[in-house]
Parts: sequence; C-alpha cells; structure tokens
Amino acid sequence: MALTESSLIERYFRSGGAQRPDVALGIGDDAAILSPPAGCELIVTTDTLVAGVHFLPAAPAAAVGHRALAVNLSDLAAMGARPAWALLALTLPEAREDWLAEFSAGLGALAREHRVALVGGDTTQGPLCITVQLIGFAPPGLALRRGGAQVGDVLFVSGSPGDAAAGLALEEQRLTVPDTARDYLRERFLLPSPRVALGERLRDYARACIDVSDGLLGDAGKLAHASGVAAEIAFEALPVSEELCAALGDERARFLALSGGDDYELCFAVAPVRVPELLAQLPPERWGYTRIGALVPGSGARVLRGGTVMEFSHSGYQHFS
Ligand code: ADP
Ligand code: MG
Repeated sequence: MALTESSLIERYFRSGGAQRPDVALGIGDDAAILSPPAGCELIVTTDTLVAGVHFLPAAPAAAVGHRALAVNLSDLAAMGARPAWALLALTLPEAREDWLAEFSAGLGALAREHRVALVGGDTTQGPLCITVQLIGFAPPGLALRRGGAQVGDVLFVSGSPGDAAAGLALEEQRLTVPDTARDYLRERFLLPSPRVALGERLRDYARACIDVSDGLLGDAGKLAHASGVAAEIAFEALPVSEELCAALGDERARFLALSGGDDYELCFAVAPVRVPELLAQLPPERWGYTRIGALVPGSGARVLRGGTVMEFSHSGYQHFS
C-alpha cells in the first residue's frame, strides 16, 4: 500500500467516532483501555461484511461504512443496550484514499450520532472485508433477550419492513418503481436506521426482542422459538410504507414486509397488561412501531389473513416481476 498503515489509521480512523470520557486510552497503543460504568453489564456483539456477499462491491463507500456499524448497533438495540465503543477490523485489497475517506465518513457520522467511540481495530491487506465489534451497557439482568415471551403477549414491529429489500432490488436493477418512491427505498436499503433509542426504552416494557435482519416472518419465528411459543402475525396489520405500496401494490408489499431482509427494525413482545403503558409512554406514531400479532401456543411463525392461516410455497413468491 502506498499509504502506510499508521498514516491511514491516523488520517481516517483516529478521530472518526465520538469522544467519550470513559475511553481512558483509545487508538494508538497495543490495546484500548475502557472504563465501564459501575454496576453495568457489558453487552458485546460483532458482525462481518464481506464484499460481494453482504454488500455490492460497487456500493457507495459511505453506505458500506454506515452499514458496518449499523448492523452491530441493531444487535445492541435488540438487547436494549446503550452502545459505547467500537473496534474495526478492516481488510482492504489496496489503500484507495477516495474509498477510505467516504467509508470512514459514513461510519464516523453514524458513530457520532449514537455517541460511539472508535477505540481500536486492525488493518490488513486482502479481499475487502469489514468486521466491527461493538460494546455497550445495560443494567444488570435487564438486557432484552429473544426468549422470555409468553402465550398471550402482544407482538410489535418497528418501522416499515420490506423497504430495504425493495431498495436492494432497485440497486440490482431487478425492480423499477415510480420516481417518487425510488430515492426513499434506495436510502432505506443503503442507510438503515438502527432503532437504538427504542431498544433502550423497551427494556421497561418488552419481554422479548429481536432485530429484523433476515425477514420479519423468520425473525419473529426465532423469537417465538427461543420463547417456546408460536408467533401469529395478521397480514392486514403489517405496516408497509406508502412508497413500497406505490412500487409493488399493497399485496406484494405485505409479502415483502414478511420475507425481505436488511430491515434492521425491532420485533418485540409485550405482556398484555403492559401494553396500555407502552402505548402511553412511547406513542407508536412518534416512536414508529405497530402491533402486528400475538404469541400463541405451539411453535413457529404463521400469518393469518381474514382469520385463516396463509400458506407459503417455498418455490418462491415472485416479488419483482
Ligand atoms: P499492532 O500491530 O500493535 O496491533 P496496529 O498497527 O495494528 O498495531 O494498530 C495501531 C493502533 O491503531 C492500535 O491502537 C489499533 O487498535 C488501531 N487500529 C488499527 N487499525 C484500525 C482501524 N482500521 N480502525 C481503528 N483503529 C485501528
Ligand atoms: Mg494490529
């Protein structure tokens, strides 16, 4: 690499994230020294993005930087944790300064938005691959888990799932949509907004929570499985954006809301007695979440339409035709 590793780190990563007083020693030494708040549990996660697998090699570098942190923020949000510190392991085929500048700007902006400090990492040469590790806090015993939902709990989802999958289809030119919807859907795919503030607030209300990254139906099924119950989702209740409906029509939009990936929304279960307070304290129209169903006896996740269980064929529903 023309640019030395240390000047690359200095230029693009040294001061990219938030400045935090609990970072006793950040980037520059052999390891970072961090001071967790007294009495908190550390909540820790990591996610890897491989070029060509998790993002398109030609994707805007700022969006790749944003995504590398966003996927980890979404995992901590699902745990109800407050994010604090990130590490970045970066494998690059070459040190392209234009790419690095955009990548670090995208990652840094999201880090500052959520008060995350970049405290270290590793930089190596090889096929483009990005791993972020994220560390956050929660009060002891209060982090949210997938397990814990009970029969009768109400199931909610944040945001409007399906948008990101449509945005990806646009990027890959598998879909054409009206101009009015295009920018919105592309942005929903390229720049996901992890629900960090909602996740933290849900510690007081949710009995179980998962982030929706692989499709709402599948991820609701994972929450149900971990809780030893089944999830029942009402097709009519699925929150779909105006833009997604404009692009696909109401019917296909709802199918995509169930199966599409990359949403980075939260799906959570709340005991019925806690629902009135949830709705009062975190007004759904302000916090952006919707009641979609309930937890019932049994296993798996199913969708009801007009009270009847819907059948899905695995041979594939044609979302984009
Ligand atoms: P060492 O060889 O001792 O591991 P490095 O040269 O890999 O040291 O890293 C020097 C410093 O820069 C360390 O503090 C490390 O955490 C940090 N660092 C390296 N790469 C990155 C990166 N991509 N992002 C953030 N910090 C990094
Ligand atoms: Mg190193």
